Amino acid sequence: MILAHLPSGYVLARLAGQPRGLPMAAALLGAVFPDLDLIWFYLIDDRAFHHHRYWVHAPGFWLILAVVALPLIRRYARRFLLPTVMFLSAVFLHIVLDTLAGSIMWLWPFSDRLYALVEVPPTRSHWILSFLTHWTVLAELALILWAALLFLRRPKPAEPPKA
Ligand SMILES: [Zn+2]
Repeated sequence: MILAHLPSGYVLARLAGQPRGLPMAAALLGAVFPDLDLIWFYLIDDRAFHHHRYWVHAPGFWLILAVVALPLIRRYARRFLLPTVMFLSAVFLHIVLDTLAGSIMWLWPFSDRLYALVEVPPTRSHWILSFLTHWTVLAELALILWAALLFLRRPKPAEPPKA
């Protein structure tokens, strides 16, 4: 998935009843966070590995982190629990969406094998063009449209109480 990660975070937060504030911000950040590995991929490793092999795209890493962090946050920083849950949920959604036409190490740390639901053949001169002209782009467009409709129908902020 290339275009719809940020919209998917918006849809997630809205479905969770969090139309604004820190939970929404956390969902938006989590929805794009795994792709920050592209900075490392291009600038440090010079594209030596598929960027889905970095820990930020490994569900097992996030599962371990969630199992350790969520009880601690619940006990010691409860007001950050909802934003953290939104962030982690959006990260998992990112990884699920990447599985459609990308490839993910779903069994890491037990296996490094990459799993994808659909293989996108290299039909164009650049891989991005191949993805953008494949039928799976319809899923991206649907998510973008869904997010846009939710945004246009977003609830108004609550009025401050009058004195
Ligand atoms: Zn990704």
